[in-house]
Amino acid sequence: MTYGHNRPHDKVKYQKGLKERLNKERGGKCERCSYIKLEILQVHHKDRNRSNNDLSNLELICPNCHYEEHYFENNQVKNRINKKVMLD
Ligand SMILES: [Zn+2]
Ligand SMILES: [Zn+2]
Repeated sequence: MTYGHNRPHDKVKYQKGLKERLNKERGGKCERCSYIKLEILQVHHKDRNRSNNDLSNLELICPNCHYEEHYFENNQVKNRINKKVMLD
């Protein structure tokens, strides 16, 4: 599994901390489809600003919901079309 491979370690640690906080608050399941598998859930930034880690800006969602959320907006930006979908 290579996902997140090139992320700096301190960032991974920090994101993990955010996820733990969200997990406690939101019950360890996807907030959109109630998918229960904490290990694969991801932290979504509602305003697309990764540095805004206020809990009201964060959503705990599964990769399917997360991909869907960003897929359409990424497709609308033509100059990003050859890049991978960015998840924030
Ligand atoms: Zn979901
Ligand atoms: Zn997101």
